[in-house]
Amino acid sequence: MSISKYMRNVLNIKDLNIHFGENCCQDVVIKGQIAKVFSAVLTFEALRCPNCGMENQQSIVKNGTKKSRIVLPEVSGYPAFLDLNKQRFLCRECSSTFSAQTDIVEENCFISRATKVSIALYARKTISEKDIAAIHHVSANTTSRVFKNSYNSFKQSYHYLPKHLCFDEFKSVKDCVGAMSFVCCDSQTHQLFDVLPDRRLFKLREYFLRFPYEVRARVETVVTDLYSPYMILIKEVFPNAKIIIDRFHIILQVNRALNQTRIQVMNGLRKSSEPKDRRDYTKLKNYWKLLLMDQDKVDFTNFRYHRLFKKGMCDKDVVDYLLGIDPTLKANYDAYQTIKYAVNHKEKEMFKDFVNESHKSLSPNMKKAMQTLKGAEEYILNSLSYTYSNGVIEGINNKIKVIKRVSYGYRNFIHFRNRIFIQFNLLQAI
Ligand SMILES: [Zn+2]
Repeated sequence: MSISKYMRNVLNIKDLNIHFGENCCQDVVIKGQIAKVFSAVLTFEALRCPNCGMENQQSIVKNGTKKSRIVLPEVSGYPAFLDLNKQRFLCRECSSTFSAQTDIVEENCFISRATKVSIALYARKTISEKDIAAIHHVSANTTSRVFKNSYNSFKQSYHYLPKHLCFDEFKSVKDCVGAMSFVCCDSQTHQLFDVLPDRRLFKLREYFLRFPYEVRARVETVVTDLYSPYMILIKEVFPNAKIIIDRFHIILQVNRALNQTRIQVMNGLRKSSEPKDRRDYTKLKNYWKLLLMDQDKVDFTNFRYHRLFKKGMCDKDVVDYLLGIDPTLKANYDAYQTIKYAVNHKEKEMFKDFVNESHKSLSPNMKKAMQTLKGAEEYILNSLSYTYSNGVIEGINNKIKVIKRVSYGYRNFIHFRNRIFIQFNLLQAI
């Protein structure tokens, strides 16, 4: 096997016009790193002149070579380059000169196609552009240019909306005006639908109104959290959609209120001069998690020694003690448990009855939470009838956050959005 054939095989170069000689590989220090530099010649008889189109009848002559250094994929962990001496030609018909071309690299480009393909494949992995650039020994700008040229850019078609939508948001990138960006997906197929830079009402309205009325009228349900502009939006733009409040966010409301009340009670106890109150403070501080547990899951059979109580108790005893400290805390706890039970077990009547009761004994925080729930009662009852939830979008959202984190925050939203779509396989490679 000749050296040329052998080297072409090693470097996976298909172009038979590239010839390698003896000593074609050298170790050269490039940017402080040892690199494998291969040298080769690209030469052949030109068939016709690209300038005037004349066929070569001894009218095109070889006219020296021009060296260009092409970035190859790594070889055995070393950066690799190909010093390619490209044949120059002179056309005697039109006196123009031109270089020999090869398919391993595009014209006027110094990065091999193999490297570009590898970069484009890395775009699907959760790894920052900076790291992809370092792996391939190219600049970060090159990486983003390759991404841009390798994938179709995402264009929303305004003729279709999923029947079942799901809304969520995430903290935006630097160049966005709004603090939060908006993400929406299909709650049936779990496909990402679109990502928008701004979740403010007027922006979302502007976006959704681009879909014709009959497309919007086909939307049947939208799952959302308790962010009220979403509810206004949904009523405005989706005439037939039922609003479903995500169950997790319903419980989050009462969960937050219960925690706030507990902290208020604790702050009162801490400042007290009574030693018992300060001990109660420590107990609430240590066992707060038990208050958030489902009532029927609190253990009442296993007795353990509790240092703070100086005796053996089961978790149920601890909960009872904590609730005995403050009557408002107890009332809040009952409210929290009732809402949680009703939502998790889809007890519509129980939920309806409870939010419509008077809540005199509750803390202001919990009263406010109850008002919020009462205001969204119709939508919450929907969520107890349908199975759709925000679970899928939370997963999508987590992935988006990881993409953002590994990229050390994107500055440009369009760029960021494209990377998201590449990762969710929504963009076809060109
Ligand atoms: Zn010519």
